[in-house]
Amino acid sequence: MTEHLLITGGAGFIGSHLADRWLAEGGAVTVLDDLSTGRVENLRAAARHPRLRFEQGSVLDRRRVRRLVEEVDLIAHLGAVVGVRRVCERPLETLRVNAGGSEVLLEAAAELGRPTLVASSSEVYGASPRLPYREEQELGYGSPEIPRWSYAASKAAAESNALAHHEASGLEVRIVRFFNTSGPRQRPNSGMVLPRMVARALAGEPLVIYGDGQQSRCFCHVRDTVEAVVRLMREPRANGKVFNVGSAREVSIEQLAELVQQRVGRKVGVERRPYAEDFGADFVDTRRRVPCLARLRDAIHFEPATPLERLVD
Ligand code: NAD
Repeated sequence: MTEHLLITGGAGFIGSHLADRWLAEGGAVTVLDDLSTGRVENLRAAARHPRLRFEQGSVLDRRRVRRLVEEVDLIAHLGAVVGVRRVCERPLETLRVNAGGSEVLLEAAAELGRPTLVASSSEVYGASPRLPYREEQELGYGSPEIPRWSYAASKAAAESNALAHHEASGLEVRIVRFFNTSGPRQRPNSGMVLPRMVARALAGEPLVIYGDGQQSRCFCHVRDTVEAVVRLMREPRANGKVFNVGSAREVSIEQLAELVQQRVGRKVGVERRPYAEDFGADFVDTRRRVPCLARLRDAIHFEPATPLERLVD
């Protein structure tokens, strides 16, 4: 593999693992990241690599994006405002970067004919009770009166934009709806429950459980996520399609707290809090979120399977 890949958000958690993987296979990588939540240290393993280039900047910078797109063969667009608290506090920035930034990037990609993979999210399914979530089902990401949904709305807009460019100019696109992804380099303050619990357990503090703890999630190891992404980028039949990418193994937040304490080897206990205390009175959490992985399996003959226990190592 000698292709040159542009990774927006490549200094972030998933993006930096994708960079490592692409370089290890002989490709070249350009990272565009504004370092709002990403960190240059995430690229430390790759830092002195002759085929890695890092550019600090925003996906909203039209001229720079066009120049970078021109220089690469294909694109993985991961740069986005992420994290529950962050998107609740910054709904406008979330829409501007995630929807607007995708538009800037996709316009250049379409004009220059660069295949593009767009990172979306399971959040686009909203609180739909129809489980497991299938790519073809109607999205139900809620009301714009609730700030949290700026993220889901922005991701849905990016998806529509990619598919519209695919229709209009034949741009090669793949859309991946990531479900909860975890693993090394995920920040404890990323808004994700698993790294937050691990950090608290290591610090000897009780693990915070919001609500009754019976809400569940499926956690996927970032290595599996990256494997799926790379395979999808190479699979011609994935062009123009949307894929769930994640694990289908469900675990309740209560069980997760137990597992984290076991793996870390400290019995720190749990502290129960109402959502409203930390996220505001309007906050609505999704009880369950389970992907159907049939489409992913059919396309790339791969399904994330790293055991949950390994995520807490
Ligand atoms: P992350 O915060 O580590 O990565 C996002 C990166 O985007 C960061 O490095 C950040 O600095 C960068 N960024 C933000 N605004 C930017 C801008 N204007 N221009 C350029 N770069 C910018 O989070 P992550 O978990 O690695 O997320 C990667 C992608 O996957 C995101 O698009 C996110 O929405 C999506 N996703 C992640 C998960 C998950 O469980 N981790 C779940 C669903 C979707």
